[in-house]
Amino acid sequence: MAKVIFHIDIDAFYASVEELDNPLIKGKAVIVGAKPGTRGVVSACSYEARRYGIHSAMPISEAQRRCPHAIFVPVRMKRYLEISKKVMRMLEDAAPEFQQISIDEAFTDFSGTERLLGPPEEIARSLKTTIKQEFGLNISIGIAPHRYLAKLASDACKPDGLLQVKEGTGQAFLDSLQLKDLWGVGKKTLSRLEELNIRTIPQLRSFPIDLLKPMLGEAASEFLYKAVRGKDLDIFSAEPKSHSLSHEVTFETDIKDLETLKKVILELSQAVMDRLLGSESQSRTIFIKIRYYDFSSTLAQQTMKHWLTSSEEIAALALELLKKRWDGHTPIRLIGVGAAQVVRGGAQQQLELFIDPLAKKKRVEETIIRLKQKMKGLKLTKASFIKHEES
Ligand SMILES: [Mg+2]
Repeated sequence: MAKVIFHIDIDAFYASVEELDNPLIKGKAVIVGAKPGTRGVVSACSYEARRYGIHSAMPISEAQRRCPHAIFVPVRMKRYLEISKKVMRMLEDAAPEFQQISIDEAFTDFSGTERLLGPPEEIARSLKTTIKQEFGLNISIGIAPHRYLAKLASDACKPDGLLQVKEGTGQAFLDSLQLKDLWGVGKKTLSRLEELNIRTIPQLRSFPIDLLKPMLGEAASEFLYKAVRGKDLDIFSAEPKSHSLSHEVTFETDIKDLETLKKVILELSQAVMDRLLGSESQSRTIFIKIRYYDFSSTLAQQTMKHWLTSSEEIAALALELLKKRWDGHTPIRLIGVGAAQVVRGGAQQQLELFIDPLAKKKRVEETIIRLKQKMKGLKLTKASFIKHEES
């Protein structure tokens, strides 16, 4: 029987949170990112801002030029994580199988639940209503027999969309898309395909794979071969499925700058730590996932003797792994940080709290999370909290 996979994506997440917290800017061109006048970039923007051609990773100066009247706001990662966690927990509770893949995206598996829960579209509609009522956020849901198509379906129907690609209709759905809509196809791949005079998905499908390989490389060619045929690409399952959690980001432009990667790793590590604490779980094993510009991927992991207790520690380990695996100049298109062999806390955790010298650090993080949950809008950074506690 065909699987029923949902890809759930919060629409314009960062900008939507900013609009929720400040209703005066609702419906305006909201741009989240670096301060105007600096050399930074756009992190995210509202759909209103997208009408001006603004997109993430665009220099903030360019965004300002295109839309001078836009509302520019700084990134408030902690706030987004706080809301993300609540939304994700609700989705996790609603679905038999759940896999979060980024701060605002998750896959859920509703296979075989039709008799119990009703048709997939109905489930999706009720999820959309619940998330809207509880959090004021719009989500888009793509439903398909596997992850890759589900992801393309949600991309195709957003914002506030719902689209089901039924078993056997994958190719027809793909033919309604453009080459650039294929998830995983960047500008470089597109221009190489163009050199081969391939401009549409049907053209790519009829092109012999052996002729693609010299142009795009083995991995990318095989990826595309499967993608245009609607075949399962087994994305997001490179790491062990159960007892691991991870966050990853795909860059709009490939990255080869260590400073940028460091910042991203720190953010991903914070998200991993937040989820460990949020689910009262712990782990000794950190892994990173790197996907290079040519789609080749690598995983590396490291297991410690003690439970990991802070996001800084996770980030430091992840950075070490990156430095071991990465030559420092091959462009990177995706990076992920995760914790493996995750176990739920219990007696063991209690014991560790007393014998582990790092436990204090962990308690500090737990306290911050509790405070954040209790007092909405309270601005609390880890540094100031620790200082405050020690003074
Ligand atoms: Mg989104």
